[in-house]
Amino acid sequence: MIRIMAVFQKSVKRIGVFTSGGDAPGMNACVRAIVRTARARGLEVWGIEKGYVGFIENLMRPLEARDMANIIQRGGTVLKTGRSAEFMKSEYRKKGAENLALNQIDAVVCVGGDGSFRGAMALWREFQIPIVGAPGTIDNDLYGTDFTIGFDTAVNTALEATDKIRDTADSHDRLFIVEVMGRNSGHIASFVGLACGAEEVFTPEINTTVDKAVEKIMEALKKGKRSSIIITAEGQKPGRAYDLAEAIRKKTGLDAKVCILGHIQRGGSPTATDRIIASRMGSSAIDVLISGHCDLMVGIEKNEIVQVPFELATQREKKTSLDYVKLSNLLAI
Ligand code: ADP
Repeated sequence: MIRIMAVFQKSVKRIGVFTSGGDAPGMNACVRAIVRTARARGLEVWGIEKGYVGFIENLMRPLEARDMANIIQRGGTVLKTGRSAEFMKSEYRKKGAENLALNQIDAVVCVGGDGSFRGAMALWREFQIPIVGAPGTIDNDLYGTDFTIGFDTAVNTALEATDKIRDTADSHDRLFIVEVMGRNSGHIASFVGLACGAEEVFTPEINTTVDKAVEKIMEALKKGKRSSIIITAEGQKPGRAYDLAEAIRKKTGLDAKVCILGHIQRGGSPTATDRIIASRMGSSAIDVLISGHCDLMVGIEKNEIVQVPFELATQREKKTSLDYVKLSNLLAI
């Protein structure tokens, strides 16, 4: 059941901010916007380090507007991030809530992905800590927002790498399988596939078979294409590109080269798009808290800021754009 947005009564004087889960380019731009909007509105801000680890271990310190200088262009997160198995247990979340109270932090902004938002939901339900989220993940797998912070940079990084691989594929008349990140979602794969002119795109949600891919490669060879690029999402198991290459070799005898792009997609200076959405979402998150609303994610839909209850953002599946894969296939004739 979908709940309506939560409202809280207490007045907010001091806000906490943290980054959590997988780091994503643009998280710093978002933290900068959060801190500076809060200061501009007369609120105090404290940074919480290492995600939920910082809640439990009381890694909290005051932040000023000037502390945010020169970070808008930096990848990673200056607040550090973390994963905490302990935080999955209520007793540790209680400790986190106590540390917030100790530091007189009234409300919190979380920059992270779906796991981080589940932790935030638990803090609100169990201890009435008002939290608003900004979606920071390269996977773009949160429902209710067209884009997440870091996705555009990851797509561009993967695209640049794939263009370079295309040079080698073309020079040697070779078939390459490029594996991109995205866990169970195929957003990065579908965007990179269309943008690089891939011959085939594999995503976890789309039922493309190895047989179909082989058929296309053989057709392409007949048409005079001497090199091919297949883009595949990592899915549940990073390294699935090797399984695909083996299946293609068995069926055709073709030696498909594999390139797994891996963590380079997480790093680097954020693109203009990521800096802009991060700034807009971070700033809006503060205004949402000031208005007394919480338990929700600030997102972007059709270039407008929207508010999406955490429950919806984390529980509904955001489908990969099938249109992108279809167009990619059409253009690969
Ligand atoms: P992301 O936010 O990028 O999806 P994770 O899934 O690793 O990253 O989640 C980050 C952290 O959020 C976890 O290490 C854990 O501390 C916390 N978390 C995840 N799921 C829950 C949950 N159901 N309840 C409480 N905390 C959670």
